[in-house]
Amino acid sequence: MTELNAEVVVAGAGPTGLMLAAELRLAGVDAVVVERLPERTGLSKALNLQPRTAEVLDLRGLLPRAADRAFATVQEGHFAAIPVSYAGWDTRHPYQLGIPQAQVEELLEERFAELGGKVLRGQELLGLTQDPSGVLVETSDLTLHCRYLVGCDGGRSTVRKLLDVPFEGDSGVGYGVVADVVVDRAPDSAARTWTSMRGLVQSAGATGFRGLIPLAEPLHYRFTFGDRASRPSSFGSPVTEAEVHAAFAETYAPATITEIRWQSRFSDASRLAAQYRVGRVLLAGDAAHIHFPAGGQGLNLGIQDAANLGWKLAAALHGFDDVLDTYESERRPVATAVLDNVAAQHGLLPQNPSARALRALFTTLADLPEVSHHLSGLVSGLAIHYPAPTATHPLTGTRLPDFPLPDGTWASTLFHPGHHVLLTTPGADLSSLPTVPGPLSTTDLPTLPFGPAALVRPDGYFAWLPL
Ligand SMILES: Cc1cc2nc3c(=O)[nH]c(=O)nc-3n(C[C@H](O)[C@H](O)[C@H](O)COP(=O)(O)OP(=O)(O)OC[C@H]3O[C@@H](n4cnc5c(N)ncnc54)[C@H](O)[C@@H]3O)c2cc1C
Repeated sequence: MTELNAEVVVAGAGPTGLMLAAELRLAGVDAVVVERLPERTGLSKALNLQPRTAEVLDLRGLLPRAADRAFATVQEGHFAAIPVSYAGWDTRHPYQLGIPQAQVEELLEERFAELGGKVLRGQELLGLTQDPSGVLVETSDLTLHCRYLVGCDGGRSTVRKLLDVPFEGDSGVGYGVVADVVVDRAPDSAARTWTSMRGLVQSAGATGFRGLIPLAEPLHYRFTFGDRASRPSSFGSPVTEAEVHAAFAETYAPATITEIRWQSRFSDASRLAAQYRVGRVLLAGDAAHIHFPAGGQGLNLGIQDAANLGWKLAAALHGFDDVLDTYESERRPVATAVLDNVAAQHGLLPQNPSARALRALFTTLADLPEVSHHLSGLVSGLAIHYPAPTATHPLTGTRLPDFPLPDGTWASTLFHPGHHVLLTTPGADLSSLPTVPGPLSTTDLPTLPFGPAALVRPDGYFAWLPL
């Protein structure tokens, strides 16, 4: 066994673990990632970045890299495959970026490496013990001594199980299959490029669904199918090619599949960790929450967990342990809200006559600007705001919308170093400014869109404004 020391060990090199590790390195923390798999699979479950995730990446200067790897820009969101508009949200990024999960992981690993980090592959976390001063982590070949451990090891998280943290919720009743396929001709009902959510998902039989999203290359599609109300007896076994061909033919014949690149089965289980923190060990991403992939939210939730946790762990390492407790109090309610919106989306799928009537009614309602705004806020992450102490400015805990600076750049660039940012104007009263739990950058501007001054957290949420 080789022995290593690190300030933070991150278990899992999925999008959550890599984003967190990069955030930690940016904050000067000695962070190490241990990953079970010997190499990347190159496979992608998720295919999108939501507007708030685009903003979060923009705060670190990473959005152009994501845009370079994207194959689509979708100018709307969706709720149960009912399109919803981003109109009315004050954001520079009112779109979903179509980008395979593997590309997101690659760019985050590239970023982590640029900051001096390294993923230790082929290292499955097998054990952990903690005491008040640190955590001892055991992997396949290593013993690691660290101050904090974060389980970003996915829905079947070993870290969560070793902590004995209940994964509360239910295992669902339905199932889905995802397959990336090449077809001999574009089905009549299928879109040629992914620019809208309209018509991408269809009903099949009484409770089944079929979805076809065009990928980067012509005649390449993400094919998703399943049943929302029952699972086949084969649910626990690998997907067969015959199963994929049969489901495709039912809806899209005479088009046929000429190649299946990969396929996987998933369930509609919905679960939330009862705690996000046990002493010096924390959970993030799918290790803390899983749900049916309605609305395209899971990866996005994980990346935003990581953006919330990174600077707080750095603060805790410098003695601000109280800040770390706000990770669970802020992020667990956000995951609860996502699980709830996914459950609501389930109820709107056309699985019986009353659900079909409800869906028709809801589709009409979703055309109303206020309804669309509300729903797109839920799924995009733009509506997230964190609880603020009483007697604080009403914007406390809300996100800072990006705005132009006098030099022609954007306020988001001020956050590239990952510091808290104090924005001030001449004569602003800073007497009630709280202690800042980490490095602070100060920018003086002639005016600000929201008042005389503000302290903004590294993840882009207002921490303080003068009353
Ligand atoms: C069919 C499908 C479609 C989806 N589509 C979307 C979408 O469009 N948009 C969206 O936002 N989300 C989508 N999701 C959800 C998204 O894929 C997940 O939320 C996301 O992968 C979670 O990232 P993560 O890093 O938390 O976990 P994971 O991606 O699961 O990564 C966990 C990592 O930990 C490693 N690991 C596991 N155990 C150990 C261990 N003991 N030691 C060390 N390493 C370990 C794993 O090998 C893996 O690399 C979809 C999911 C499915 C199933």
